[in-house]
Amino acid sequence: MPKILLKPGREKSVLGGHPWIFSGAIHVGGESVEPGTIVDVYSQSNNFLARGYYNPQSQIIIRVLTTDKNEKIDEEFFKKRITQAYNMRRSYIDGIKTNAFRLIHSEGDLLPGLIADYYAGYVVLQFHTLGMELLKPLIIKTLNDVIEPKGIYERSMVRVRQLEGLKSEPVGLLSGEMPPEDLVILENQLQYRVDIAHGQKTGFFLDQRENRENVQKFTDSKEVLNCFSYSGGFSVAAMAGGAKMVVTVDSSEEAIKLAKTNFKLNNFDVKKNEFLVEDCFQVLQRFAQEKRLFDCIVLDPPAFAKKQTDVPQALRGYRDINKQAMNILKPGGILVSASCSSYIDYELFFNTIRAAGSMAKRSVQILKTTMQPSDHPINAHFPEGRYLKCFFCMVQ
Ligand code: SAH
Repeated sequence: MPKILLKPGREKSVLGGHPWIFSGAIHVGGESVEPGTIVDVYSQSNNFLARGYYNPQSQIIIRVLTTDKNEKIDEEFFKKRITQAYNMRRSYIDGIKTNAFRLIHSEGDLLPGLIADYYAGYVVLQFHTLGMELLKPLIIKTLNDVIEPKGIYERSMVRVRQLEGLKSEPVGLLSGEMPPEDLVILENQLQYRVDIAHGQKTGFFLDQRENRENVQKFTDSKEVLNCFSYSGGFSVAAMAGGAKMVVTVDSSEEAIKLAKTNFKLNNFDVKKNEFLVEDCFQVLQRFAQEKRLFDCIVLDPPAFAKKQTDVPQALRGYRDINKQAMNILKPGGILVSASCSSYIDYELFFNTIRAAGSMAKRSVQILKTTMQPSDHPINAHFPEGRYLKCFFCMVQ
C-alpha cells in the first residue's frame, strides 16, 4: 500500500475523525501514486492514521475510508458498510408505508463520494469522486449480494466530478433490469412516480419525506401554495392532510407534469387544483398584487448558496422570498420554509426567518424545526454534511 506522510500537526483532524485530507497537509509519499489508488496515511511520528483513496487532481487529496489498520478496502469492507446502512434504514423506515429511501449518504455513511438511493426495488447510484468511481465494480457486486435489487442504475450527472478531474458524467444501467419508466414508489402511504432516468437528481427528493409527513398536520380544509414543488411531493401530502385546494408551482414543465401524475395516482382532482409552470419569485409577487392569500405556504427552493462566497447574496434571497410568502399568508397561517444550502447553518437561517418577519411586519412563531432525516445521517466528525433545515412557522 503506498504510504503518505502528513506534515507535523496535520494528523489532528484525521485523529478527530474528519474524512477529508487537504493537499496542503501532505509531507511526502504521493509522487508516484496513480490517482484514485488506495493509500495509507501516517503521521510525522510514523503512526498509522487512516486508509483512503488518493487523488492529487482534487484539493481534497485523500478521503478516508477507514481508520482501522486491519481493515482492507475489499468486498468484506463494502459488505460491512452497506449491510450496516441497509439495516439502519430497515429498522427506522416502516416498509409497509414507505419503500423509497437514501441507502448510502456519502460521508454520513462513512463512504465518502458515494450516494445510493433505493426506489421500490431499484438502486440509483451517484459516484462523486475518482476513488469511488474506481471501486464501482466492487460496490455493484456487494449491493447485489446484500440488497438483491431488481436493477442498479447510475445517475452520476454531478458537477463536483469536475473537481476530481473526471470529465464524464455517466448515466445508465449498471446491473439487472432497467427501472420501468412508470416506476411508482410509496412514501408515507402516498404514491409518487419517480423518473429515474430523466428526473432531477436521482429522481426524487427523499430528504423531505418527514417534512412532507409533518405538513399534513397543517393542511386540513386549508388553501395551500407549494413553491418549488418539483413532482408535487408537498402538494400531494397537503391533499392527504385534507387541503381544500393546492396551488403547485415549479419552473420546470416536466416537474409539473409529474406533479399532475402524482395527483392522479392518489385520486386527487387535477382540475380542482392549480398547476403553474412559472418562476416562483414572480408568482409570489403576482399573488401579492392580486391580494390572493393562503393558509399555508411551502417554500423549498434549490440551494441559493453553492459556495461560501455566495452566502451574503443567498441570505438576502432567502429573506426576500420568505418575506414575500409572509405577505400573502393569512393571519395565523403556516409557513413551511426549507433551506438545503450547507453553507447556511441553523442560526443563519433562523436569523433570516426573523428578518423576513420583521420586514413583512408580521410576528413569527416557530412551531417546529427539523434537520435532514435519519436516512441522510450526519457524520458528527464532518459538520459540513449538515445541509437541510426546515422551519414550520405560524405567522400572525
Ligand atoms: N419540494 C420538492 C423539491 C424541490 S427541488 C419536493 O418535495 O420534491 C427545487 C425545485 O425548484 C426544482 O424542481 C426546480 O425545478 C425548481 N425551481 C428552481 N428555481 C425555480 C424558480 N425560480 N421558480 C420556480 N421553480 C424553481
